[in-house]
Amino acid sequence: MPRSLYASLALGLTVILTLFGAAYLVITLVTTRLYTEELQQGLHRDLAAKLVGEGLLAVDGKIDEAALADVFHDLMVINPAIEVYLLDLDGRIVRYNAPGPLPLERVRLEPIERFLGERTGRIIRGDDPRHAGREKVFSVAPMMVGDAYWGYLYVILGGDEYASVAAMLQESYILRLGLTGLAVVLAVALIAGLALFSVLTRRLRRLSAAVEAFTARDCRGRLDAEIGGNDEITRLGSSATRMAERISELLAQLEKNDNLRREMVAGVSHDLRTPLASLKGYLETLVLKEGTLSPDEQRAHVKTALRHADRLSRLVDDLFELAKLDAQFESPRAEPFCLAELVMDLIQKLELRAREAGVRIEARIPPQLPFVNGEIGLIERALENLLDNALRHTPAGGRVTVRARLDDRGTVGVAVEDTGRGIDPERLPRVFDAFFRAAPAREGDDGGAGLGLAITRRILELHGSSVTAHSVPGQGSTFFFSLEAVAS
Ligand code: ADP
Repeated sequence: MPRSLYASLALGLTVILTLFGAAYLVITLVTTRLYTEELQQGLHRDLAAKLVGEGLLAVDGKIDEAALADVFHDLMVINPAIEVYLLDLDGRIVRYNAPGPLPLERVRLEPIERFLGERTGRIIRGDDPRHAGREKVFSVAPMMVGDAYWGYLYVILGGDEYASVAAMLQESYILRLGLTGLAVVLAVALIAGLALFSVLTRRLRRLSAAVEAFTARDCRGRLDAEIGGNDEITRLGSSATRMAERISELLAQLEKNDNLRREMVAGVSHDLRTPLASLKGYLETLVLKEGTLSPDEQRAHVKTALRHADRLSRLVDDLFELAKLDAQFESPRAEPFCLAELVMDLIQKLELRAREAGVRIEARIPPQLPFVNGEIGLIERALENLLDNALRHTPAGGRVTVRARLDDRGTVGVAVEDTGRGIDPERLPRVFDAFFRAAPAREGDDGGAGLGLAITRRILELHGSSVTAHSVPGQGSTFFFSLEAVAS
């Protein structure tokens, strides 16, 4: 089950704030304790020295037991947390004011010596005689009895430690107040964080819903990613919108290609079937009526059969050529050649046909036209298709003209113009599609199968160029393409 980004962020924030709160609590408790100890030792540092200094504790070279008992008693009354011990010079406990026996017989002298030796203000802890292994802050002063050092007056300043954190909190109103304040601050931070995350993730949620809706529509239509703002999420939204547009375009293109392929298969089957059926029909007639047909009739039948066979073979050649060009993805083997010469050769080749059709065919090419770059065999085929179409669709008395000139983009523009019947504007955009005929094929029409212009277009595509058509019905058509000029 995928977790939402909001849930992850909220969980993350809660964990961080909880850890923060716990760390703060621990630090506060520890520093509070240390501060209390520091304060106690600082305030009562000289307590032992003062008690000893009054000189009341020793009389006549002996400890004054009564005075000692008074001191013990007075201190107990003033501050029960304070415990007084009388130590000999080895740290052994000789007198004390606590009830019952002590777990410790002696305390270590090392903290006592440190206390007496340094005055840095750092906390110094000594053994707590009432709790073996525990240390507490203290005050200490050496005691003289007569002229000799007798021992130490050792005063433990802190009372019993708090049993637990809860007890400590219960004891201190200030601590309670501080920690309640902390809890309130953390709660406010959590609520503010959750609100912020909700605002930020709302736009992501909207974007994700838009993408899901787009996917549910099979990637059709627009992806509506209007999420406002001007940050990374907005940019992500615009990228998603652009990507969706591109996907829609590519899908439409795929569908179009698929339809074209379907039409092409239908076109191929139809165009193969018709001449094949006629060819078969004429040959069958020849076989069935053998002996009954006159030689003229026989010749006519054979001629018609041949015409259909020619048409079939031309169709298969064109199909093969188009398939070959479609499968070719590398650039053609281009080399510089003279376009004017190529056009003149083609015109010569078609001149007889043009004369028979009563159409004038001519070239208008400036003599200083630079060479062009291309695969000459392919360009010849493209031009021949255009000239062949122009001748076929121009009635007697018309004219077919090939023009070429250098344009300012450094390319040579080539136009094949005719004064023929032209093409309907609504059919014009489709004339380059395979198997598309702009005018319905007439009975006995031995025109192409609608592959010539598709072949021309593919050849120019392979040359990094394109072919366009302009036509006015009844007045004529112009097909135009350009080729890279070779700098002379
Ligand atoms: P086809 O082999 O049928 O000529 P093309 O691909 O060469 O196929 O041309 C497609 C269609 O475009 C033709 O069927 C024709 O109707 C139309 N066409 C092409 N060139 C011309 C032109 N110069 N004048 C009028 N119609 C043309």
